Amino acid sequence: MFKINENYLKLPGSYLFSNIAKKVAAYKEANPDKEVISLGIGDVTQPLAPAVIDALHKAVDEMANAETFKGYAPDLGYSFLREAIQKYDFEERGVKIDTDEIFISDGAKSDSGNMGDIFGKDNIIAVCDPVYPVYVDANVMDGRTGTYDKDTEQWSDVVYMPCTKENGFVPELPEKTPDIIYICSPNNPTGTAMTKDQLQKWVDYANEKGSVIIFDAAYEAYISEEDVPHSIYECDGAKTCAIEIRSFSKNAGFTGTRLGYTVVPKELESNGTSVNALWARRHGTKFNGAPYIIQRAGEAVYSEEGRAQTKEQVAYYMENARIIVEGLKEAGFKVSGAVNSPYAWLETPDGMTSWEFFDYLLENANIVGTPGSGFGPSGEGYFRLTAFGSRENTLKAVERIKALKK
Ligand code: PLP
Repeated sequence: MFKINENYLKLPGSYLFSNIAKKVAAYKEANPDKEVISLGIGDVTQPLAPAVIDALHKAVDEMANAETFKGYAPDLGYSFLREAIQKYDFEERGVKIDTDEIFISDGAKSDSGNMGDIFGKDNIIAVCDPVYPVYVDANVMDGRTGTYDKDTEQWSDVVYMPCTKENGFVPELPEKTPDIIYICSPNNPTGTAMTKDQLQKWVDYANEKGSVIIFDAAYEAYISEEDVPHSIYECDGAKTCAIEIRSFSKNAGFTGTRLGYTVVPKELESNGTSVNALWARRHGTKFNGAPYIIQRAGEAVYSEEGRAQTKEQVAYYMENARIIVEGLKEAGFKVSGAVNSPYAWLETPDGMTSWEFFDYLLENANIVGTPGSGFGPSGEGYFRLTAFGSRENTLKAVERIKALKK
């Protein structure tokens, strides 16, 4: 009889967003006349930039001709894209990354989920609490998290690093030394980003302890403050202790198009074994890349027009973020984030739990947000609103929230 990976059975039943979808569907069915606005899931709404669309059309035409047709893509990705990344994401920020340290993928979700393949089962992982749920769930699947306690909503073998208002939503160095440290900055869901000094402490800690940091920079494009690094490699010594994951989803609207990349420096070693070589081996065997057409679309993001057009999209969402934060503050909510990220993080009023506030907002303002507790136990009592909606819906939602408090 074949056997399944029993670690999958340990995953707690229902995923946050399917729970939300069920609740919203039930509400809409019972209230068909209500206009429900979603500031909930982290998906973008603006169409792909014209420069990207042009590149897609051109690449599709190339596939129609024997002379320009492309078959399997190189394992690490096409050099035209890796060179553009090297230049615009790193060199222009004074960071030296070699093209063979850049691995093109179909997105940051895949990379953050698959990264565990190259690490041993007995590594202790540490995660920010709250954070994007993929890191923990993928490690559950890999059998690295121990047992789940329903009451505390924590795994026995995971080091949780609370991000609370007391520490400004920036994690403190843990007492128990982890082997693999996931840092998401700017963070989903709190919207807080680490300053360079704060991140440098983590890099120094990881180098001292022999840990590896998996740095998720999916929201890098939203950074507006000077002292917030766009890449972990802006910190001294990061190449010996950090992997960086990037995405084209939030800076260029590729959530459905799918494109990302991961940097695995050649200096990163465990007992003399090159992690870069292992990740290359994995890419060679399991693939994890992106089609030619999509990589050409990614290249267009770095063209002069592409950069200007995608910058405009980010600015559009950040204006939404500003509208949300100002409106919530005016309505008397305590709110943080949304300065270096598209996420506003608000304290639920009157001691409501995150899910109680979800219901309250859905029923009284017909707005869908995301309960903070869905991202980890320290998210209880908080709520995430995203800036990814249309301007019209964002303005409408803010007016409804303001009316609530009167
Ligand atoms: N990393 C973080 C922190 C995210 O919030 C998300 C999506 O919401 C992703 C990665 C997924 O990125 P991608 O669309 O490239 O898979």
